[in-house]
Amino acid sequence: MPADFEHARSVAVLGAGASGLAAARELTRAGHRVTVLEARHSVAGQCAAAEIDGRAHDLGGHGYSPGHHRLAALVEELGLSSTDTGPPLVFDPATGRSRPHRPDPLCRETLARYRRIRAEQFPRIAEPGLAHSARALAVPARRWLAEYRLTALAEVFGPGYTAAGYGHLDLDLPALYLVKYAELTGMAAGAEPVRTIDGGFGALWQRVAAELPEVRRGVRVERITRGPDGVRIIVDGAPLLVDDLVLTVPLPEVLPVLDATEEERALAARIRHLDLYTTLGTITGLPEGAHTLVRPHLDSSAGIGRCVSFHRRHPDQDVLACHAYGRADLDGPAVADLLRTDVSAWGGHLHRLHLQRRWRFMPHFGSADLAAGALDRLEALQGQRRTYHLGGLPAFELVECVLGYAQDLIRRHFANSGHKLLATRY
Ligand SMILES: Cc1cc2nc3c(=O)[nH]c(=O)nc-3n(C[C@H](O)[C@H](O)[C@H](O)COP(=O)(O)OP(=O)(O)OC[C@H]3O[C@@H](n4cnc5c(N)ncnc54)[C@H](O)[C@@H]3O)c2cc1C
Repeated sequence: MPADFEHARSVAVLGAGASGLAAARELTRAGHRVTVLEARHSVAGQCAAAEIDGRAHDLGGHGYSPGHHRLAALVEELGLSSTDTGPPLVFDPATGRSRPHRPDPLCRETLARYRRIRAEQFPRIAEPGLAHSARALAVPARRWLAEYRLTALAEVFGPGYTAAGYGHLDLDLPALYLVKYAELTGMAAGAEPVRTIDGGFGALWQRVAAELPEVRRGVRVERITRGPDGVRIIVDGAPLLVDDLVLTVPLPEVLPVLDATEEERALAARIRHLDLYTTLGTITGLPEGAHTLVRPHLDSSAGIGRCVSFHRRHPDQDVLACHAYGRADLDGPAVADLLRTDVSAWGGHLHRLHLQRRWRFMPHFGSADLAAGALDRLEALQGQRRTYHLGGLPAFELVECVLGYAQDLIRRHFANSGHKLLATRY
């Protein structure tokens, strides 16, 4: 696909989460005509918030570290403010107390060894995307850490990683994802302080959406047909004709309406997800603090179904967003029951369940697929049949990562010579 277009293109972006809105913003700045199509009646996707008593409570994305430069720049550019919520706390149900989670930074020797291995095997890990480092880090995390005598990395970053929804380390998840997370949250410093956006992460994306010319909410995409002359999308029964299509929805979810190629179907069949629940409730009797990890539930997959972390968005409100992994035999009601039981065992009380959201979280490939080049195959699809793929699968499931990946991909593939200054302004 050519990297330079002389003329404005028309582009449809499927999904108004961080990826889709960041891409649409970048495309608009480069002078292209963009229509964002969102299935829900609201934007922000996994950065959605719920309003309780007039205040926003993040359901998904809620924190970022000062090292998340692209996100920090966007927050500043849009004139939003942010607050340092301090280090996460670790709650010990046995004592009912919590203490700051300040893991020792990696010792000098471990850090030096890690840096050597990184320089030799995956020097681009901190850059947007995952494909560049995937083969080197394909093996399951625990095995990789043991092979390179880096188990300390799991001790420093493991609790935060599992609490953030990326799975328990005794599961067979490739080292790629743990190392990407560790790089993004501050390899040398241990866990970095967490900032949150005042008004919620959703407010950021609502602001981005408000600046875009066309964001269609609550639409149903019924059919996508791609041909040599363009892309035809049936939206709520009416055709939309565009030059290009940007997908931010994982392939398996869009397959029912897509004229998918064999390669797209083959890759979609290999994509896995983690089952994650956010349960928002009014809960009293649990420790103060913005962000609390529940240690015993993080240590092994025996903690599936149980609350691994809870967030108190507003210090003066007892509304907590509690996160737990699900499983085929542990659905939403079962997760809520376990939460109620745990809270009362911890000496607290769950007064009211406001809502529960289930996420098909962190699209990823397994070790064998990464080793066989699944992410390279996904990269090779970029621009094929006028289609581009964004989101957690190629980028990693963190706002900083999906944002950086979206910006770079659009700059690479949609640079418009007439608008280069705008496109490279930040
Ligand atoms: C519980 C939880 C906690 C998290 N915490 C953090 C955090 O603290 N910090 C951080 O950086 N990241 C965090 N994340 C991850 C971060 O929120 C995501 O990586 C990011 O928001 C993903 O954005 P996206 O646009 O790629 O995907 P999504 O946000 O999933 O956006 C996809 C959009 O597509 C829409 N859609 C789906 N199907 C269709 C269709 N057929 N037609 C049209 N639209 C469709 C969806 O409704 C959605 O709006 C968290 C996520 C979760 C779930």
